[in-house]
Amino acid sequence: MLPLLKNRLSIQANVARLVKKLDVGGEKMEKNKYKYIVVGMGAGGATLAMELAKKSKQVVLLEKGRNETRLGTFRDSLRFYDANKITMMPAKSKEGTILWRTVMAGGSTVVSCGNGVRCLEDELEVLGINLEAEFTEAEAEMKVSTYDERRLSTGSKKILEVSKQLGYHMEPMPKFIDATKCRRCGMCQFGCKYGAKWTALDYLDVAKKNGAEILYNSKVQKVLVENGKVKGIGLISSHGYSEILADVVILAAGGIATPVILQQSGIQDAGQGLFMDLLVNTYGVSKDLTQTNEPTMALVDHGFYKSKGFILSPFINQSRLVRFIEMGVKGIFMPAERLLGIMTKTRDDSAGKVYPDGTFSKPVTDADRARLDEGSSISRDILVKAGIDNKSIVVTKVQGAHPGGTAAIGRVVDKDLQTKVSNLFVCDGSVLPRSPGMPPILTIAALAKRLAKTLA
Ligand SMILES: Cc1cc2nc3c(=O)[nH]c(=O)nc-3n(C[C@H](O)[C@H](O)[C@H](O)COP(=O)(O)OP(=O)(O)OC[C@H]3O[C@@H](n4cnc5c(N)ncnc54)[C@H](O)[C@@H]3O)c2cc1C
Repeated sequence: MLPLLKNRLSIQANVARLVKKLDVGGEKMEKNKYKYIVVGMGAGGATLAMELAKKSKQVVLLEKGRNETRLGTFRDSLRFYDANKITMMPAKSKEGTILWRTVMAGGSTVVSCGNGVRCLEDELEVLGINLEAEFTEAEAEMKVSTYDERRLSTGSKKILEVSKQLGYHMEPMPKFIDATKCRRCGMCQFGCKYGAKWTALDYLDVAKKNGAEILYNSKVQKVLVENGKVKGIGLISSHGYSEILADVVILAAGGIATPVILQQSGIQDAGQGLFMDLLVNTYGVSKDLTQTNEPTMALVDHGFYKSKGFILSPFINQSRLVRFIEMGVKGIFMPAERLLGIMTKTRDDSAGKVYPDGTFSKPVTDADRARLDEGSSISRDILVKAGIDNKSIVVTKVQGAHPGGTAAIGRVVDKDLQTKVSNLFVCDGSVLPRSPGMPPILTIAALAKRLAKTLA
């Protein structure tokens, strides 16, 4: 009880300090007013805050979640995944599509599989956005390198071998995982307890060292607007409701929360066009192969991406409880150590919608279904050729982990990521013009680096 109370008092003190603070830097324009407020500390928010702080800009970061230090197990993940705390069921759309996302400092980058790939380059180029310099910079900082084939599990080695025989293009995935620290526990999506994976917390550290102020447990509710211009934000914390004033506000609360804040702030066209990069996993039980001892998604096949709109990548969920969520009772009895699996990740239709109360709709359209079915059918062929008994093969429910498109460039924000409210920007997965169908962290980080240059 005592630590909880202490935590609460310290949060109250911090909010009070920020709200009342009168003068902390050269760029302060007037009393109780900041230059930049960044909302959310994930891929977009942490990158932007780091870049602004490095340019000596005065930045305050506001984060709904906590700074989690215990990572790596299903139990840990219950604290930060967006899920019902009693039933443990993850957030779902009105139609039942599962959404995996976290609410915590670092956002969903903390639970990523460490995949560092460029995506949407052509689509952004058409919109007048060239990210070459920013991609190169982020790749160097995150130390992106192709996964070492020699460190593959026996299961993925077999998948690689038979995929080639079948004429497919499976190859090692580019990763921001430090091979010298990675213990190949295969638990990437519960957070890395060995610190082997780049996360937005790394950028946050740089932001802090360069003077950025950070406030956790602070849920931003709305943006304050006056005469078409940003004035600040309203937030809820254990301190109650407070307001912080700023010249510039950048929303980076992710593809679900950002459109909620925008709608609460009078930008009603936000929330439309939700994509999630819908996926299914195709699992089968092997006699003697395992996929447990490697980072998840160690390989990728982009061969179907342009023509069919999906990628394939070896993937299993080691946790029985997560498999129960994915496929019901059957999932509990599949032996993790002999499980082989391939994920079909698709470029889904932007047919969903986020509502002002945070609920969302995400229908699986006929075209989505066709992409998922074709990918899982190819996955089944690969698994059978790898020696898996066809009868053991199960395809999971439809899921997604890349929500975005809900404040898309060209619709809700312009190519400089500014909304119709002057000095209100968006910098997260919401701005992506369409479903990438690929891991988007690198692209979101590159967009944030570009925005920092524009703002500075
Ligand atoms: C299990 C899993 C594995 C993944 N693996 C990969 C991968 O390998 N490679 C890859 O590129 N992508 C991966 N992704 C996707 C990637 O993590 C996300 O697409 C990316 O983090 C989105 O960035 P963002 O800035 O839009 O949002 P986030 O990174 O989610 O950040 C949003 C932040 O806002 C905070 N927030 C939310 N609401 C509020 C509020 N009201 N007020 C204040 N703060 C708020 C959140 O707590 C969070 O810190 C994975 C996702 C999941 C779930």
